[in-house]
Amino acid sequence: MKVLVVGAGPAGTRCALRVAGRLPGAEVVLAGAEPALPYDRVALSKYLAGDVEQAALVTHSLAELRAAGVRYRPGTPVAALDLAARVAVTARGERIGYDWCVLATGSKSFRLPLPGAELPGVIAWRDLAETRQMIEAARAGGPAVVIGGGLLGLETAAGLAARGMKVTVLHAVGWPMERQLDYDAGTLLAGRLRARGLTLRMPAETVAIEGVDRVEAVRLAGGERIPARLVVMSVGVRPNIDLARASGLSIARGIVADAALRTSDPHVLAVGECAEVEGRTIGLVAPALEQAEIAAATIAGEAMAWAPRADSAALKVSGTQVWSGGEVAPAGAEAVTLRAGESYRRLWWRDDRLVGAVLYGDTAEAGFYQGLIASGRAVASRADAALGQAFLQDAA
Ligand SMILES: Cc1cc2nc3c(=O)[nH]c(=O)nc-3n(C[C@H](O)[C@H](O)[C@H](O)COP(=O)(O)OP(=O)(O)OC[C@H]3O[C@@H](n4cnc5c(N)ncnc54)[C@H](O)[C@@H]3O)c2cc1C
Repeated sequence: MKVLVVGAGPAGTRCALRVAGRLPGAEVVLAGAEPALPYDRVALSKYLAGDVEQAALVTHSLAELRAAGVRYRPGTPVAALDLAARVAVTARGERIGYDWCVLATGSKSFRLPLPGAELPGVIAWRDLAETRQMIEAARAGGPAVVIGGGLLGLETAAGLAARGMKVTVLHAVGWPMERQLDYDAGTLLAGRLRARGLTLRMPAETVAIEGVDRVEAVRLAGGERIPARLVVMSVGVRPNIDLARASGLSIARGIVADAALRTSDPHVLAVGECAEVEGRTIGLVAPALEQAEIAAATIAGEAMAWAPRADSAALKVSGTQVWSGGEVAPAGAEAVTLRAGESYRRLWWRDDRLVGAVLYGDTAEAGFYQGLIASGRAVASRADAALGQAFLQDAA
């Protein structure tokens, strides 16, 4: 059996390895557009900040992939699928036949359609090559502007600051990471980041990026001009559906797939951030890896279904402890807040069930709250639960 996996991000690599493991006789090809060995995209933030070396990002060597039964083809973007013939055509015109094709083409960073958005020195960060460009730009120092104060925007800003740049974050909302944090936790975090030398402008509206041959400044609504040698847009991602669209597969926001990760074509599956599974797209690595496992099971003829779980996210900026899980400040839920010194904890409850939590300053109990949210278990005392696992008798 021939299995072609397109995209060597975490989901594609995991899927290729699992298919090879389940079907030892199968010919498994992993075709990735990027020239590098499969690497840990999540750890790019730590690489940018100088906390890890580039070599530490690599998740699998060529020899490991080969030994596991996967033929890795780096620098091989697939341009189209001939669904009827079950053949993939690469950008160089090579034809690769398959019995099963798994699309794992991930996401693309969204570039705000502002005047000047395409100038050299403006980056919408997603991959290793762009990380290297940012590190290179930071070597000369000077001012940088990060547009977007979400999780990735803050990690970008902290990384560039650690490399010696003077960084301003422009965020459209009044506090950072508003999708993961309530106002109070966001305000505490903003204070901490400012104390460490970052400039945060919130709310701020960017109207243009200025420069002649390369970026020189960012213009705000109201006319203010902020000088910048580097601008990083961190305003969200969109599923990468280019290949699926060019091939005539059903697409919506992502590549339409069922819970077994089957697309509109019976020989093509979709996993990870490119997929829209039962109407839902994802933006984190854990569910992408789960989908990869399910797709491998589907190819092996086993009936398994992917089901979404509550998301959780932690900020990877050294010197800050921030975690959020489940629903943040949802309508109709009651909040219980605990503050002690520098640490802040807010839990949202529907009756006796925890539906969301934000931890700032001390995230040691993150796993406990994540477990409570995921299990939907009833809890006798909210006050005990707020103190932590050791205090909650009925959820041990
Ligand atoms: C800096 C950074 C930090 C992050 N931090 C976190 C975090 O802390 N926690 C978390 O859960 N998530 C984090 N994420 C998100 C996480 O990286 C993604 O959820 C994860 O990578 C999704 O995996 P994927 O395999 O679906 O897609 P991707 O990782 O995007 O991989 C898709 C791959 O497919 C390739 N490709 C696309 N089209 C083609 C084609 N036509 N032919 C061949 N190859 C193709 C792309 O080049 C890419 O290599 C972070 C992302 C970034 C950029």
